[in-house]
Amino acid sequence: MINMKRTHNCGEVGVKDIDHEIYLLGWVHRRRDHGGLIFLDLRDRSGIVQVVVSSQDAELFATAEKLRIEYVVQVSGKAVKRSPETINQQIKTGEIEIKCSNLEILNTSKTPPIEIADATTEPDEMVRLRYRYLDLRKDKMRENLVFRHKLIRAMANYLDQKGFIEIETPFLTKSTPEGARDYLVPSRVNPGKFYALPQSPQLFKQLLMIAGMEKYFQVARCFRDEDLRSDRQPEFTQLDLEMSFVTRDDVIEVIEGTLKHTLAELEKDIDKYRGKRIPLIELPFPRLTWDEAMNRFGSDKPDLRFGLELVDISDLVRDTECMIFARTVAAGGAVKCINVKEGENKLSRAELEKLEETAKKLGAKGLAWLVLTSNGPKSPIAKFFKEEELELIYTRTKCETGDVLLFVADYFDIACNVLGEVRLELGKKMQLIDYNSFHFTWVIDFPLFEYSKTEKRWVSRHHPFTSPQGNLDEIEEKFLKEPGRIKAQAYDLVLNGTEIGGGSIRIHRADIQHKIFKIIGIGEEEINRRFGFLIEALEYGAPPHGGVALGLDRLVMMLAGMDSIRDVIAFPKTQSALCPLTGAPDVVDPQQLKDIHIRTAI
Ligand code: ASP
Repeated sequence: MINMKRTHNCGEVGVKDIDHEIYLLGWVHRRRDHGGLIFLDLRDRSGIVQVVVSSQDAELFATAEKLRIEYVVQVSGKAVKRSPETINQQIKTGEIEIKCSNLEILNTSKTPPIEIADATTEPDEMVRLRYRYLDLRKDKMRENLVFRHKLIRAMANYLDQKGFIEIETPFLTKSTPEGARDYLVPSRVNPGKFYALPQSPQLFKQLLMIAGMEKYFQVARCFRDEDLRSDRQPEFTQLDLEMSFVTRDDVIEVIEGTLKHTLAELEKDIDKYRGKRIPLIELPFPRLTWDEAMNRFGSDKPDLRFGLELVDISDLVRDTECMIFARTVAAGGAVKCINVKEGENKLSRAELEKLEETAKKLGAKGLAWLVLTSNGPKSPIAKFFKEEELELIYTRTKCETGDVLLFVADYFDIACNVLGEVRLELGKKMQLIDYNSFHFTWVIDFPLFEYSKTEKRWVSRHHPFTSPQGNLDEIEEKFLKEPGRIKAQAYDLVLNGTEIGGGSIRIHRADIQHKIFKIIGIGEEEINRRFGFLIEALEYGAPPHGGVALGLDRLVMMLAGMDSIRDVIAFPKTQSALCPLTGAPDVVDPQQLKDIHIRTAI
């Protein structure tokens, strides 16, 4: 009988099939013995169906008795209606069952270390990753991978319709500076030389524009040898795209269209994950300039699911007797404030102290507070302020009786960052966040450069191929005058306070690209060695172009409401970049090392 005959998938047998002969293939999900009857839940990728084996057929029954969970079987028999009291509403196929007439064991299974049929228990993650092929048999994981597949298909279909073509770019290549360490691959045939695995297809997609491809996309694997945080992986996937003859708004429009289309296609899946109807996203997404995002939310990836905005009161406290405030402003810093509405009742003294700890950990000197009680202000700093000064602060911050004001006075960046983090902590603590809503935002007009304290020089904030705003020919003069004020034609896409993508209009002129490399301190020799091919290509009629990349793993994770990026990647690595399943990375034979001209120092 082992002919792999299959008329149905398990999860798709239904009332319509009653009295038909059904052939199924799958795994024994559960097995229950009820005296003369054995009930099997048979599972394949589509779901589960109940199979009943009766002892009336002794040989068949003997085979069924041998079954253990996760055995692989072929089953055939008639679909019959279940009696009303045995109908199972929990599963799609719950109104019928298969009366087994043939049963073949295709393979046995050891007792799995992961309980596949039990959605409530989750073993240690090391066990899950060690036996990933079993972990992926669980409903949740299978659903996540199917969801990911649908998302990628929907995006690709949309881009295809819009005239984009998918082109693969090499893995064995030269380093592209996306700001991380490269994974290196030694070349056997070129002793002493190394390929770098791409941190992104950045330079190749620009070369494709120079090659006249006009609209490119790729579901691209990227490799970055970084210390891993919980939502990072050494290899991850981007939806990468690039377009010629475009402005920022054209690129933004394509991404918005892609997401709108994709989320509409996945509407049912998303609602199922969330257990409720999630409204479709609306276009266009709001846009905040980088200055606005920092000023109002203290972050370049603002979480717009709740308010609690930062208010700048620097101008109001310039001349107060509250020295910490006045001196900060005099020194060019900022005083920022958050009004916690009804904070008097909502924030305990201990919670205030915890917030202050957070602020200090992030580098602030402190977190000043003021409670506006019905008897006036209560605060260690209130005595330094005149009544009129306080009134102005209350008006600016819309502070009413019962509210609590929190202040940070520091360098602009620190004041914003610290209060931005305090805002997020308050948002969570005060349950202001709707975890089932999607707030997409563009952050635009980023600074082109930022000062690296460790390297003691100005570096590109995105990558050095990002075009400055304004007259390109003035870039050197502007850099000499106010490097921090030059804005980039760069944009980031933020979802619920997480950066999920970013891109820019690129530099398409060789002379300007050369100048930018020099400005950020790359010497002539290094420019030629690392980027000579790009500069040269730009000299052959490079069209104006720009693009963007979305982090697919993170997007899938957030849409599906998963906590870990590893739950949406088939074979992820651990936090220490290990694969517990295969044992990678591993030592290799001495001969292999010899072949690639490598001697290890370990
Ligand atoms: N290559 C960039 C990145 O990986 C994205 C882009 O500029 O298109 O972040």
